[in-house]
Amino acid sequence: MTGDRTSGWTRRQALQSLALAGAAAAWAPRGLAQAPSRRIGVALVGLGHYSRDLLAPALQLTKHCRLAGLVTGSPGKLPEWQGRYGVPDRNVYSYDDFHRIADNPDIDAVYIATPNHLHKPLALVAANAGKHVWCEKPMAMDATEGEAMVKACRDNKVQLAVGYRMQHEPNTRRFMAMAKERPFGRIIKLRADAGWWGWRDGADDAWRLDPARGGGAMYDMGVYCVNAARYCTGLEPLAVSAFDETARRDLFKGVDETMRFRLEFPDDIVAECVTSFGRNLNTLQVDCERGWYAMSPFQGYEGNAGRASDGTVFEPQLGPRPRMQAEQMDQDALAILGNTAPRAPGEEGVADLRVLDAAFASARGDGKRVEIARG
Ligand code: NDP
Repeated sequence: MTGDRTSGWTRRQALQSLALAGAAAAWAPRGLAQAPSRRIGVALVGLGHYSRDLLAPALQLTKHCRLAGLVTGSPGKLPEWQGRYGVPDRNVYSYDDFHRIADNPDIDAVYIATPNHLHKPLALVAANAGKHVWCEKPMAMDATEGEAMVKACRDNKVQLAVGYRMQHEPNTRRFMAMAKERPFGRIIKLRADAGWWGWRDGADDAWRLDPARGGGAMYDMGVYCVNAARYCTGLEPLAVSAFDETARRDLFKGVDETMRFRLEFPDDIVAECVTSFGRNLNTLQVDCERGWYAMSPFQGYEGNAGRASDGTVFEPQLGPRPRMQAEQMDQDALAILGNTAPRAPGEEGVADLRVLDAAFASARGDGKRVEIARG
């Protein structure tokens, strides 16, 4: 399945070429020549819905990336993928031989889009192989795992970016700026609701019902609420009270179908959030002392739309899917090429996981208030 892996290009030669190019950055990426016109070679890890329908098509729209490799546990998927995207055998891996990616100069970064329980182990393999890591949300199963990913990437001098596509969306970036500008004065309250209806028995992604594989609405959609509450305030929440309101206990065994939670921030700011696999929810509102601003959707694939109490309208800007994912990957590629921090680094994922850890603890205690661990 994996084909020819021979390559005349060694780590030593890569380091020599970096030295010759004067790439003296404190943390020069391993095995990466720093030419501005260079496209980052990306290997997709896990060829499921998100890779197939969004990431691979988006890579065709990018300016700074190219789909260079595939990592899969399903060899039967490969003829179609390789035929469609022209990925050579030598750039195809299984999860068992994924570590051999270290010897492949075609691949600079891996994009992990597997069930959530595999994010950390696969990220560690990639980091130890000297490859930059792009990882889907939620970054890991808990903050401890996330911290291990940050450390592994730091130790190996590779970048770690979380697939928070919204942080590359223009209207979201406007809301992030307003966290600092406070155009309507003091923020008093936020509302963030994220969910989708349509769970069906026998779905390919049955792992979303499996606690061992990171299933449940909180991991899948609640993380959007948490991330939004943090980027809309520019603050870290202090405590959370969470209530598991799962209705279909026959289907959702050991995972949350619906979670309602309340985040307490400094300055008496409160965020009220709902996440669900049983309801379509996609609304974010920030209430301030002199007005409000809101987006619905705030995590749509076609870009966000919204308005503010002063009549401002926020029109979707990026265009149809998968332009948002293309923008995200181009920005993350530019961070690698320019040796700058990605917009959503690993630490951003860890901060959200600290909130999730506390929320799960709160829900287990029937909504008792739980303080959120500090970094
Ligand atoms: P899918 O179930 O559609 O695909 C996951 C793929 O992971 C599978 O097809 C399979 O690919 C691989 N895989 C490896 N091990 C397992 C396992 N034990 N059980 C099941 N699959 C396995 O999921 P999605 O693509 O929808 O989600 C993948 C990740 O992307 C998740 O972390 C999710 O949260 C995130 N996501 C993010 C979105 C966003 O908007 N940012 C949207 C959707 C998902 P293979 O057969 O090739 O090994």
